[in-house]
Amino acid sequence: MCGIIGYVGSKNAIAIIVEGLKKLEYRGYDSAGIAIFDTNNFHVIKQKGRLSALETRLARARRPLKGHIGIGHTRWATHGEPSDINSHPHVGNKNKIAVVHNGIIENYKQLKERLEQKGIRFVSQTDSEVIAQLAEYYYDGDLIDTVIKVSNALEGSYALGIMCIDEPDTLVAIKKDNPLIIGVSGHGHFIASDVPAVLKYTNKVYYLNDKEIAVLQKGAAQFCNTDKEKLQKTLETVTWSIDSAEKGGYPHFMLKEIMEQPKVIKDTVNSILKNGENKNIVDNFDIKRFNKIVMTACGSAYNAGVVAKYVFERLCRLSVDVELASEFRYKDAVVDEKTLVILISQSGETADTIAAMREAKRKGAATLSIVNVIGSTIAKETDFCIYTAAGPEIAVATTKAFSAQLALLYVLAVRFAVQLEKISKETEKELLSEIKALPAKAAEMLKHIDFIQKYASTCIGYKSIFFIGRNIDYAIALEGSLKLKEISYIHSEAYAGGELKHGTISLIEENTLVVAISNCGRLYNKIMSNAEQVVSRGAKVLLIGNCQDIKTNDNFSFIGLPKVSELFSPSISVIALQLFGYYVAANKGLDIDKPRNLAKSVTVE
Ligand code: GLU
Repeated sequence: MCGIIGYVGSKNAIAIIVEGLKKLEYRGYDSAGIAIFDTNNFHVIKQKGRLSALETRLARARRPLKGHIGIGHTRWATHGEPSDINSHPHVGNKNKIAVVHNGIIENYKQLKERLEQKGIRFVSQTDSEVIAQLAEYYYDGDLIDTVIKVSNALEGSYALGIMCIDEPDTLVAIKKDNPLIIGVSGHGHFIASDVPAVLKYTNKVYYLNDKEIAVLQKGAAQFCNTDKEKLQKTLETVTWSIDSAEKGGYPHFMLKEIMEQPKVIKDTVNSILKNGENKNIVDNFDIKRFNKIVMTACGSAYNAGVVAKYVFERLCRLSVDVELASEFRYKDAVVDEKTLVILISQSGETADTIAAMREAKRKGAATLSIVNVIGSTIAKETDFCIYTAAGPEIAVATTKAFSAQLALLYVLAVRFAVQLEKISKETEKELLSEIKALPAKAAEMLKHIDFIQKYASTCIGYKSIFFIGRNIDYAIALEGSLKLKEISYIHSEAYAGGELKHGTISLIEENTLVVAISNCGRLYNKIMSNAEQVVSRGAKVLLIGNCQDIKTNDNFSFIGLPKVSELFSPSISVIALQLFGYYVAANKGLDIDKPRNLAKSVTVE
């Protein structure tokens, strides 16, 4: 959450920072701000609301700002309401040091009190302002020394971009528990929370580790630790293309990313089955060491874990628990060296999942991560990391990264099942060829787009929409419901079909929609009985599944899915569910890529 960007070089920093913030807005959009060093002074412009509001202010400035060094921020407020004053960058009382911050300073109250006693006057309610005030308090002519002192005083998480008026050619960055990359181009250096912010200018980046300091000037990037020892870091090349961070003619990133799913599934499966690091890990993984698997994740990644539980248990005959990372970290989980903990995270920076990973490691469990962002914290700290090949995902509501996680988990389950001697080589071949056929089936599914769009336009008046399914259809119902509520703001819940009568059915009344998912042939009659039960109580039903000969009427609609075996069917049903959620929200005219109160990479607790 919160996106930070900084630039020092020969180009106009304003345009570069605004452009970078556009790519980071998915991380938060409560406010945006920029600080530029322009003719001997900082100019700070910050504005509550979307980045477009800041752009309007910049455009209206009497004298257009320009400068060659600057920092910018797009905020997801944690401390202090979204307001102009609470927006970043924050500057100390002496107007000497400007700071952008991503994270939470846990001891900010104590630090603030100490500084206030020394006569320093705070203007915002944020935790972040304390960083700028403290830096000015410590500053005695050496910005690196100051940053070290500040970082030693701070408790909590932070990625920081810092500028000082006395050192107008230097941008300093440091991070702890929040992501920061350093971009290198022919005309200057960048700091950014995420790679898409700099992709337009460079694909060469350094990944900063915790408590490493980057000192950037136009032609030089130097690194040291908090003992001021020089560090040699490796410059990495990012393979993401610049097009992947553009809308490419679609009205929203979400729709573009939904449409990319056939390719993303194919790329992810290929990265495991063909040559490469993913393949090495999967082929050489010794699953026989373990007597239990725990999957832990948040949000949609958690739902991918729930789907995977059904697949792993069925194929591997190994017990799988799925835990919310935010719960796992505090529950004194029963895991040890015989447990494999699988962590799933698109960004690899999800704060709760990082904490769960560290807790699992502390208890001696082996950790394997499924991550989309190369070089992220979870990727680096787990014992094994397998990357999904989804490319950058910009829409806040995940679609293609989720699909990539599922595809990867299927292949993993099949490989583990062979190693555990639970399936024959022949069955493995059959299952893998089904997985390889998923991209074509996903493309076939996308042909239903017109029907779903039309149907969704009739659904915007519902107060509640329920999703039901059984077994693996229930698992994917969880994701369908989450997708709908996060972007359309319609209340929604997912229930296991058999569980309805134990409580939720009391909520079913006229003008309720129930989306029933049916891809498990053996449970078809069961889910159809559940559908009948809700129709009898006045609900309308939308059935989504690969069943045939369904008779529709005013109360009963149907989307037929391409035939895929039960275990892998979530990859197809989820596309129908994503499109349904997307078009309900689109018909309501909502800001689909940036739903209210949400941000994508949840780097705070
Ligand atoms: N704690 C800071 C604020 O509220 C930064 C929040 C974040 O990184 O999400 O402004």
